[in-house]
Amino acid sequence: MTKLINAAENVVPELLEGVALQQPGIALLRDRTIAVRAADAEAIAAGNTDQVPVAVISGGGAGHEPAHAGYVAEGMLSAAVSGGVFASPSVDAVLDGIRAVTGDAGCLLVVKNYTGDRLNFGMAAEVARTEGLEVEMVVVADDVALADSEDNAGRRGLAGTVLVHKVAGALAARGATLAEVAEAARRVAGSVGTMSVALTGATVPGAEEAGFDLPDGEVELGLGIHGEPGVSREKVAPADDLVSTLVERVAEDRGLGGAGFGDDEKIDSRVVALLGSAGGTSVMELAVCTRALAAAAEKRGLVVERLWTGPVMTSIDMVGVSVTLLPVDDDLLASLDAPTASLAWPGGTAVEPAVPQVRWLDVPEDPQEQEELGEPDAQVRAAVDAACQVLLDQKAALDEADTEVGDGDLGTTLARGAAAWQKDPIDGSAAALMRHLSRIARRDIGGTSGPLYASMFLRAAATLEDGGDWPEAFAAGVQAMRDLGGAEPGDGTMVDALAPAAEAAERGWDAVIEAARTGAADTADQISTKGRASYVGERGRGHEDPGATAVVLWLKAAAQAVRG
Ligand code: ADP
Ligand code: MG
Repeated sequence: MTKLINAAENVVPELLEGVALQQPGIALLRDRTIAVRAADAEAIAAGNTDQVPVAVISGGGAGHEPAHAGYVAEGMLSAAVSGGVFASPSVDAVLDGIRAVTGDAGCLLVVKNYTGDRLNFGMAAEVARTEGLEVEMVVVADDVALADSEDNAGRRGLAGTVLVHKVAGALAARGATLAEVAEAARRVAGSVGTMSVALTGATVPGAEEAGFDLPDGEVELGLGIHGEPGVSREKVAPADDLVSTLVERVAEDRGLGGAGFGDDEKIDSRVVALLGSAGGTSVMELAVCTRALAAAAEKRGLVVERLWTGPVMTSIDMVGVSVTLLPVDDDLLASLDAPTASLAWPGGTAVEPAVPQVRWLDVPEDPQEQEELGEPDAQVRAAVDAACQVLLDQKAALDEADTEVGDGDLGTTLARGAAAWQKDPIDGSAAALMRHLSRIARRDIGGTSGPLYASMFLRAAATLEDGGDWPEAFAAGVQAMRDLGGAEPGDGTMVDALAPAAEAAERGWDAVIEAARTGAADTADQISTKGRASYVGERGRGHEDPGATAVVLWLKAAAQAVRG
C-alpha cells in the first residue's frame, strides 16, 4: 500500500511539524514528539508557574490524526504527547509533556483506556507527583461495543475522548480548579458512548497490507482505533441502516432516549452527537451518514442539541464512521460551545452553535412557467413526442457509444430530458413547444448537452415568434448552440450533424436527414476538440461522436412523425 510519506520512521515527527505550521499558538518540544501550547510552555520555562491555567494533557499512539496535537490550542489541550504509530508514548515522554506545561494549578491527564497508555501515563503521573506537581488522571472508555467486564482489558477509549478534551479545556480556560476540571472530565467520560463501523482495515505506514481484510459486501462493527478487527462482522447495508444500528447500540448502552419516550422525559435525552470519520471515509459519505445520524437520533427520541461531523479520532486510512453520543445539560453545552483555537475541533470556531435541523426554503418561482401556449400545433407536438421516444429507446446504445469517447452518460443525459417531456408534455404553438423544450433542457438534462440544446430551442422559439419559418428557426438555433459552446463544424461534436442539417432545411426532410447523417459519420475521422471527448484525443478516432449520432436519431424520428 503506497502512502504519501517520506519514510515510515519519520512520519510522526513530520506530521507534527505539519500540524505546528497551521495551528495557532502551538509549539513542539525539540527532539520529542510532543506538542504544547507555546504561551504556557514559555511561562513555565520562565518560572512563572502561577500564570498558567490547569493543564489538560492527552496523547497516545499516532495514527489518530488530528488527535492529539490537533487539539493543542487555547480552549482545549495544553499538550499532546505522541507515541509511534498505534503505540503508546513512553513514561518519560509523558513526563516531558507534563513538566513543559504544568504550573501551580496542576494538570489533568486525559487517557484512553488501553493498557499501554494507562501504564505509561499512570507511571508518569506518579513520578510527576514526586516532583511536587499536582496531577489528576481520567481514563476514557467510551466504547459500547465491548462488555464492561473483568473478562477483557475493559472498554476502549474512542472518539468520545475528544469531548472530554473539549469540556476539560473549556473549564481550564475559564480558570477552574484542577478538582473542578477533573470532575467535569470524569462526568463526560462516565456518560459518553461511541461505536463504529468500518468497510476496510487500516494500513500502518511501511506495512504492505491493512490490519485486517474484509471481503466485499461485509463490514466490521464495533472497532477500536488501532486497526484491529471489530466485535462482529455483518453484511453491508445502506448507510441509514448501519448508522441507525450504531445510534441504537450507543443510546441503549448509555440509557438515552428509547421507544415510548414522552415529551417530558425527553429532557433527559438531550445529547450532542458526533459523527467521526475513521480517516479514509469520503466527505460525501460522511455527509450522507450525518443525515442518517440525525434521523436515527430523532427516531430514538433524542433531542440532538449539537451535531458535529469530521475526522476527530481516526485510524489512519480506515474507511468507516463512528457515532458518539453524550447526554448534556446547559452547563455542558456551554463548555462544548466555548471558543477554541483548535482547527481540528469539528465545532469550528463558530459563534453560532450548529443546531442540527435542515431549513427548507421554497424555490423562487419561474416567471417563464406562466407563458401563453398559443394555438396548438399537432404536427410539431407529434414530432417532439417521436423524438423523445427514440431517445428513450436508444438510451443504452448512446451510453455505450459515449463510453468510447466520453464518460458514458450521453444516453442517460438525453433520456432524462425525454422522460421529463413525457411526464409533462404540453400542447401549444410551435414556438411554445420549443420554449418548453428549452426549459426541460435547462432544468432536467444537465451535463454539456443540456445548456447547448436549451440555447438551440430558445433561439428557435424566438425566431418562430418573430415570424421566421422552420428553416430560419433551425439555422438560428444551431447558431445559438455554436455561440454558446464555441464548437465549429469539424470539431467533432453534434454541431457537425446539426449545422449541415440546418443548411439543408430548405430542401426538405430527406435532405436534412442525409446531411445530418453525413456530418455525423464524418466525426469518426475527426479528433474532437470540444467537450469531454477532446480529452481522449487520438483514442477517439474511428468513433462517431455520440452527440452527433443522437441528433440523427431524433431528427429521423421527428421527420417520420411529421410525414405520418
Ligand atoms: P458531458 O458528459 O461532458 O457533460 P454530455 O454527455 O452531456 O457531456 O454530451 C456530450 C456531447 O456533447 C458530445 O458527444 C458532443 O456531441 C457534445 N458537445 C460537447 N461539447 C460541445 C460543444 N462545445 N458544442 C456542441 N456540442 C458539444
Ligand atoms: Mg457525457
